[in-house]
Amino acid sequence: MLRRTTDYIVLHCSATPPAHDIGAAEIRQWHMAKGWSNIGYHFVVRRNGAIETGRPAAEIGSHVKYHNASSLGVCLVGGVNKAQKPQNNFTEAQWLALRQLLAELQSRYPHALIIGHRDFPGVAKACPCFGAIEWAQTNGLRAAPPMRLVTASMLRAIKRESEDGDEADDDLSGQETAPAKWWTAILGSGGVGSLAGLGYGLDWLSITAMILGLILLVCLALYLMGYERRERLWDRLVGL
Ligand SMILES: [Zn+2]
Repeated sequence: MLRRTTDYIVLHCSATPPAHDIGAAEIRQWHMAKGWSNIGYHFVVRRNGAIETGRPAAEIGSHVKYHNASSLGVCLVGGVNKAQKPQNNFTEAQWLALRQLLAELQSRYPHALIIGHRDFPGVAKACPCFGAIEWAQTNGLRAAPPMRLVTASMLRAIKRESEDGDEADDDLSGQETAPAKWWTAILGSGGVGSLAGLGYGLDWLSITAMILGLILLVCLALYLMGYERRERLWDRLVGL
């Protein structure tokens, strides 16, 4: 199925040790063994820096729960040590290739922001085992804001995904309804309060929610001030 928007380029790792020289073919096998139609990622960067194509770039991938319908997935091979513990062990060739690939993708998809899998709210994984946002910033690429809040644009992304449908990411079992997905995302990000948050793209709904939140705060402050101080403040404001 074709993607309607490309808001993010999500970076992943294959969670394999450095000596494991695999590529798109092996990952495709793993994913298809799970019953998926194809490899979940759109691009795979091998240990030697070779870029291999996974799922066609225009299609909806399967690599990040709730955001597949609005993102591209790029997987770096590596990311764990021999004991399977997260480790930033990517090669110089991989960093060079990644930088080039992402620059090219961002010129093709001008609204797409770079983000790591673990940077989305509610993700309890180390993937891609390095700070993708900071890395993108220091390499002159457009990165997503480093915030872990659910916003209106994210809720729309979740809605889009439940409409368009996909195989979700690597550890999803069973089908979730759209409202269930919303609640998981909101609770995962630390509460309903963060709904009014910044980040992940400011849109009119997020801004409205923020303004309403500010008005509520001012009202609360005025209420807590008490009658007399409120009167004095009023007098000062109107210049009496
Ligand atoms: Zn991942």
